[in-house]
Amino acid sequence: MSERHEAAALPETPVKARDPLIIRDLKFLGGMAVQGGWRPTDELPEVAVIGRSNVGKSSLLNILVRRKAFARVSRTPGRTQEVNFFKVNEDFILVDLPGYGYARVSKTKRHSWQPLIEGYLRMTTQLRGIILLLDIRRDPNDEDLAMLDYLAELEIPTLIVITKVDKLGTKARSERITSVVTAIEVDEDQVIPFSAHSGIGRDELAVAVVSLVTQPAWRRVEA
Ligand code: GDP
Repeated sequence: MSERHEAAALPETPVKARDPLIIRDLKFLGGMAVQGGWRPTDELPEVAVIGRSNVGKSSLLNILVRRKAFARVSRTPGRTQEVNFFKVNEDFILVDLPGYGYARVSKTKRHSWQPLIEGYLRMTTQLRGIILLLDIRRDPNDEDLAMLDYLAELEIPTLIVITKVDKLGTKARSERITSVVTAIEVDEDQVIPFSAHSGIGRDELAVAVVSLVTQPAWRRVEA
């Protein structure tokens, strides 16, 4: 058969790209309410999501795992200030950290997060990385910057996701992304633009999460 015939035999519509993170099973394991409190006994790799309250964390988690009800657990009264653990496919644990930014923080007081968040970040030996969310319409504030510094100090692999990009048109979007990456001193290709409304960035984020959980732990002993 000639090459021309082979080309003509290709399917007319391309096969849909495979979902990089197919969720076969998602289980809420429970929440840690106080530093050093209950946590799952599983030794599976963990990836945690963090950001200022209202940044779009619940919406992002819903889209990432394609379950509308997922983040509802984290929103129920009493759970919003806990570290919530969800087991994905017996493969890894997705950790929903409480949103920061409720309390006002002075510039001089650096590590001001609840001991709960600090404790989790310092003590979790199976932690593979953090996904830090920043809202495209807001400049990173002192708390965001302090959190980034803290993650860098602990040498935790950190992925930056810029949320709610659908709120802006193409030009304003690219200007705001430039402004945010400049503020946090990273390159533009180091951030994932994301929208829970349009689905932009979902698969890129899924690929990044899978790559974090499959890499070896960078932390061998408790920090
Ligand atoms: P959380 O407090 O960080 O969990 O934030 P939520 O997911 O509850 O979102 C806070 C608000 O932002 C809600 O009103 C959401 O509807 C809205 N929101 C979240 N993600 C997006 C997004 O991608 N696009 C738009 N336009 N709004 C969003």
